[in-house]
Amino acid sequence: YTESVQHYIAQVFETVKKRNPHEMEFHQAVKEVFDSLIPVLVKNPHYVNQAILERIVEPERVISFRVPWVDDEGNVKVNRGYRVQFNSAIGPYKGGLRFHPSVNASIIKFLGFEQIFKNSLTGQPIGGGKGGADFDPKGKSNGEIMRFCQSFMSELSRYIGPDTDVPAGDIGVGAREIGFLFGQYKKMRGGFEAGVLTGKGIGYGGSLARKEATGYGTVYFVEEMLKDKNLSFKGSTVVVSGSGNVSIYAIEKAMQLGAKVVACSDSNGYIYDKNGLNLETIKHIKEVEKLRISEYVTEHPDAIYTENCNGIWSVPCDIALPCATQNEIDHHSAQLLVSNGVKAVGEGANMPSTLEAIEIFLENNVLFAPAKAANAGGVSVSALEMAQNSTRLSWTFEEVDSKLHQIMKNIYTNSKEAAQQYGAPGNLVVGANIAGFVKVADAMIEQGII
Ligand code: GLU
Repeated sequence: YTESVQHYIAQVFETVKKRNPHEMEFHQAVKEVFDSLIPVLVKNPHYVNQAILERIVEPERVISFRVPWVDDEGNVKVNRGYRVQFNSAIGPYKGGLRFHPSVNASIIKFLGFEQIFKNSLTGQPIGGGKGGADFDPKGKSNGEIMRFCQSFMSELSRYIGPDTDVPAGDIGVGAREIGFLFGQYKKMRGGFEAGVLTGKGIGYGGSLARKEATGYGTVYFVEEMLKDKNLSFKGSTVVVSGSGNVSIYAIEKAMQLGAKVVACSDSNGYIYDKNGLNLETIKHIKEVEKLRISEYVTEHPDAIYTENCNGIWSVPCDIALPCATQNEIDHHSAQLLVSNGVKAVGEGANMPSTLEAIEIFLENNVLFAPAKAANAGGVSVSALEMAQNSTRLSWTFEEVDSKLHQIMKNIYTNSKEAAQQYGAPGNLVVGANIAGFVKVADAMIEQGII
């Protein structure tokens, strides 16, 4: 029977490729999940009979729209906006918005697909979705960002709502953009629907610890994984790629747990400080001055800046936390990390390792925390923000942080146990995919063919 299941999965995968030609990132994300699901379908033939795979790879709705705006010189510009409402079996569509020139249908689909399983793993009642635009925020003025967000929301507002679809931030969309988007949504609806977006400012419905949540969550997850092998962050050397929201707060938590973080990066290059990075300097450069990470060396002349962001993986470390973007670790970088003795890899970004890179880590017994489990802290606290909005309450930082910590521990335990139960002990890629899938698949079956 295993062979016929493999054949069936291969067939569904062919359909995915045919329906979504040239969408390499989407194919990659589907392949990783499908490869994990063979034992699940063998054990539960009703998933096959109910065509769950065919249904789950087809978004419930794909929206793309024109986003016209006027730049500071008075030129009219046009971008393409997207929202993929992928799966609402267990709750309203939930997932971020990404503003980056690389955004296209494939990127948004892969992110939306990942989001289904990630959101399921959080244990919170949220479905999967994602959106964004091929807009490049780099070098844009505050006014240009505002006008772009307003135009984007004029169209998006038709499709979202606190009980239907709840966007948040992702690359290029932070508290400032969420503020502009929320303002425009409120104006168009004529009512204060706080729960329509998450990642809001603290003064108008945002949650404490949301900003820190993804980075902290990744470190909490990796901490559990290390603990199982009698290892810890204490005294270890850590490399964290990126220098955005995820990266900065992963660095902060790793340092709090006693790690020495020696490198981080942006899309231009990376900095290496053998004595350990100064986080205050990084926060000042990125959060206050909004400059490039290369600035770091002017204040810390002992540190070295190298132009070539993926060169960061040549820095020897015990723990690597890729927190920049998809496919930032290829087989070459994975090999380099392994040769330099890496013990654990925790994915803070979405799909930062290629399929080949993951294989290299697993073959070499590197502890590997896959993105949809390890970076689920951000969306978990988004769900907690929705809960606070619904009840018109706001919780303290400590309350939210301790709920986040517990959620990450649960995700670790559930992923580990699912891997064990389905014959892949220690493989958290398989475990996370299975644990995320089963809950959504069962809900879909209970709700009939819709
Ligand atoms: N963009 C984040 C993610 O990839 C957060 C999404 C959200 O909070 O809705 O999970």
